[in-house]
Amino acid sequence: MNASDNTGLDGQTKGGAPAPSKFWSPLVHSLAPYIPGEQVSDGRLIKLNTNENPYPPSASVFAAIQETLGSDGERLRLYPDPASLGLRQAAADLHGLSVNQVFAGNGSDEVLAFVFQTLLNQPAKGPVHFPDISYSFYPSYCRLYGVAHQTLALNDAFEIPLDALDEETAAVIFPNPNAPTGKALARTQIESFLSSHPETMVVVDEAYVDFGAESCVPLVNAHPNLLVTQSLSKSRALAGIRVGLAFGHASLIEALVRAKDSFNSYPVDRLAQVAARAALEDEAWLRHNVEKITASRDWLTSSLQQLGFQVLPSKANFVFARYLQTEGGAREDRKGAALYQALKENGVLVRQFNRPRIEDFLRITVGSPSEVQAVVETLGRILKA
Ligand SMILES: *Cc1c(COP(=O)(O)O)cnc(C)c1O
Repeated sequence: MNASDNTGLDGQTKGGAPAPSKFWSPLVHSLAPYIPGEQVSDGRLIKLNTNENPYPPSASVFAAIQETLGSDGERLRLYPDPASLGLRQAAADLHGLSVNQVFAGNGSDEVLAFVFQTLLNQPAKGPVHFPDISYSFYPSYCRLYGVAHQTLALNDAFEIPLDALDEETAAVIFPNPNAPTGKALARTQIESFLSSHPETMVVVDEAYVDFGAESCVPLVNAHPNLLVTQSLSKSRALAGIRVGLAFGHASLIEALVRAKDSFNSYPVDRLAQVAARAALEDEAWLRHNVEKITASRDWLTSSLQQLGFQVLPSKANFVFARYLQTEGGAREDRKGAALYQALKENGVLVRQFNRPRIEDFLRITVGSPSEVQAVVETLGRILKA
């Protein structure tokens, strides 16, 4: 495993990549791909590094996939519905919207790619803004689509200072709750920003919203400058299926549809469409799942605090925590990278980012009760050594 795997640093490429070819377009030379958390095949590792849900999805998901497959998979012969109508209708019904206010894509990462290309790329008006500490995929999309961008520094409490953006701001995107901090803005804060910045394209990435933050989807009718993206990967336990959604005014959705139809007519496959729809229709499963994750998050937070960690208040299915060292007496082996490495050597995979201000933090996914217990016990042993 090479050393860069846990960094997620912009401008870094995976070690051991083949050398550039003379056939590459100039664009390829300029790309800086996002580095996701490792996917490991070692089943003995406790995997708390990519914010997957520790529980299986709703049983109705499995039933819907089986029904679609039938006894011989005959229906896989046919292309899926290019417009994902059934899935979009289910998402629209959930939020009291019409189907033309909903977009479906191959994971919210793909939806976000279209968003950067079609709505955040405003060369005549100015750069898109996003927090300096945020989802590190955003700068990768900017390079891919040539989108000018500027970062917005989080304040000392690691909050997004929306009021630092003036009325001329062309576009802004931020996750709510933010990743990797887990902190959320209140819907009223975002609403007043939308009202005072009607010329600003505002995209709220709600990949983690179900775990305790307030969704901005109810604001889309009143605010034609708002687009909200959501994911089925985290709160619906379907990271393996790859479905993401966007909600907004029909004219904003049309921009995404145009990009999609110029790229791939069928990005959401037949099994993914029925699986995602079944997941969205099982609200009871979601509520129960969120209760379990929230209980584990509370336990993990207080246990880490007892071990001497500062834990940012999280509204997501991960916590962001650093070991508090005394001024002057900081030990190298208690810093973020050292704790990450020691955990890994003890079979627990978390995430750590070698970036200014957050290099001493560990981002720990809220797993099952036994998984969060294992990370706390392992950290306890490491800190005693
Ligand atoms: C996980 C994540 C996504 C991507 O979700 P997919 O639907 O799995 O592509 C988008 N934004 C943020 C902030 C995320 O953490």
